[in-house]
Amino acid sequence: MIRKSKEIRIGTVMIGGTNPIAIQSMTNTDTRDVESTTRQIHKLQDAGCEIIRVAIPDQEAAQAISEIKKRVNIPLVADIHFDYRLALAALENGADKLRINPGNIGSREKVKAVALAAKERNVPIRVGVNSGSLEKDLYIAHGVTPESLMESAMRHVRMLEDIDFNDIVIAVKSSNVKLSIAAYDLLSAQTNYPLHVGITEAGTVKAGAIKSAVGIGAILSRGLGDTIRVSLTGDPVEEVICAKMILQSLELRRFGVEFVSCPTCGRTEIDLIPLAKQIEDYCSNIDANIKVAVMGCIVNGPGEAKDADIGVAGGKGAGVIFKKGKVIKTVKEYDLFTMLIKELEEMIKETPSE
Ligand code: SF4
Repeated sequence: MIRKSKEIRIGTVMIGGTNPIAIQSMTNTDTRDVESTTRQIHKLQDAGCEIIRVAIPDQEAAQAISEIKKRVNIPLVADIHFDYRLALAALENGADKLRINPGNIGSREKVKAVALAAKERNVPIRVGVNSGSLEKDLYIAHGVTPESLMESAMRHVRMLEDIDFNDIVIAVKSSNVKLSIAAYDLLSAQTNYPLHVGITEAGTVKAGAIKSAVGIGAILSRGLGDTIRVSLTGDPVEEVICAKMILQSLELRRFGVEFVSCPTCGRTEIDLIPLAKQIEDYCSNIDANIKVAVMGCIVNGPGEAKDADIGVAGGKGAGVIFKKGKVIKTVKEYDLFTMLIKELEEMIKETPSE
């Protein structure tokens, strides 16, 4: 069952409620370098990112938000640690959301100043707890557990609620997949604020993508999560691609053509791996509600992929093109890519894009 959370606006993007699960990422440029940051934001947006977070380590970075905002049209989240003055400056400069933990910014007055300034501008605040930054008393009493992560998040949330601020998003991230899943489970039973889901410090691109897919995927499969961020040590564009794949795998969102290919085996008699890559790359630029299959052999391929709308299957020095499991033509191996694309383009013209 999908958890129905409170609806929250982040600039032009709505999350929670029945809205699609939004993809976010974070720039790794120096936010004060407006040129580089803007360039990276455009790349992330082109890849499919819908909300972008930028680090705000000082006042200069907070000031840069207004200049960046003039050049991009995507909600910007200001990531702030400890200093409430940076939060105020980020809001003055047009941040669409703050990521700040109220328990870390000092007195109730400071929390109140930030919450009031955010409320005036209809800017939400994300409470983001992670296993590396638990409060000392929770850490001493319980260690890093799902309960302590949840309790830490709820403490920050209650601080905001106490001053009548309810425009809240919550994250409880850990680099431990099982811990993260259990923490989101507990948190979802406590509150209906939207959940920002991620596995923190997941690792480099390949290992981190797998860890994130397992963790985020498990949490989403429980019906939890309103926005996701995949955290990878690498180009943040990879985070966006991975996030899209996770959402598409669970049929929570659809991004372009769905591509499937067989693992190849001793029956494969054509050079399938480069062909599959070539077709996958081609399909990644197409937005159509079509499933494309690349299969290694004629005997099993069309049957194994009969739910695909269109596909190729290899034979000896040749292959076939099939539609819905039925072979429609035989072509030489070197023509397989061209002929499949021709048929695919025709199919796209006839397929409504939803
Ligand atoms: S489709 Fe054919 S080549 Fe591919 S794994 Fe199945 S049997 Fe092997």
